[in-house]
Amino acid sequence: MKQSNVLNKIAQLIKKNAYYIVLFLCVAAIGTLVSLSLIQEETYPLNPDNNGDSVIETPGGDEVGGDVVTPGEDTGVNGDNSDNVPTIITFATPVADAYIGQDYTDSAIVWQPTLNQYQTHLGIDYVATNGTRVNSAYTGMVEEVGENLLDGKYVVINHGDGLTTVYTCLQEIMVSKGAKVSTGEQIGTVGNSGIKEYKSGDHLHFEVRKDGTCINPYTYLTEDNK
Ligand SMILES: [Zn+2]
Repeated sequence: MKQSNVLNKIAQLIKKNAYYIVLFLCVAAIGTLVSLSLIQEETYPLNPDNNGDSVIETPGGDEVGGDVVTPGEDTGVNGDNSDNVPTIITFATPVADAYIGQDYTDSAIVWQPTLNQYQTHLGIDYVATNGTRVNSAYTGMVEEVGENLLDGKYVVINHGDGLTTVYTCLQEIMVSKGAKVSTGEQIGTVGNSGIKEYKSGDHLHFEVRKDGTCINPYTYLTEDNK
């Protein structure tokens, strides 16, 4: 009898406070979920290799990350990098034993004695004695050799990626169209064969073109090798 009385009392107590008990259980459950999710967020990014904190989640994450994702990503990234890294090109001087006469200018106009007028000068004039060797500024393929009234004897070398170098006013051409040349290899000699810059005397007129348009040669020449 006593025992059933005690049980009845407990039952009545539970009935009276059922609302609070359910509320307490709900709060406890929510609290547990929140703290679990916090632990998950903390351990995932910070300790992907830590097996102590979450035994179930981490090995799974490691398996997927290590075996499937990481090697694929590495190969892709390396491949992309080798394709996209721009090649840094440095030209060798086309005439080693020379001084610069008319320098490159695309904005200021300079007096052009032969044509008797002011104009831009989209190349560098290397002044040297007649017959001084002219070298390819960079590895490439001879795209064109020829002679015309204005430029005299000239050589055009294609370096790939739309980049070409042009050598005019030559005394002598020493390469043929289609020939492969390396940096510093002789392609001709300094002369004064073009009437466009005839009054400048013996010199090499050197141009650098990107997709057919003259650009500043100093983009590829350093202070030491200009
Ligand atoms: Zn010139």
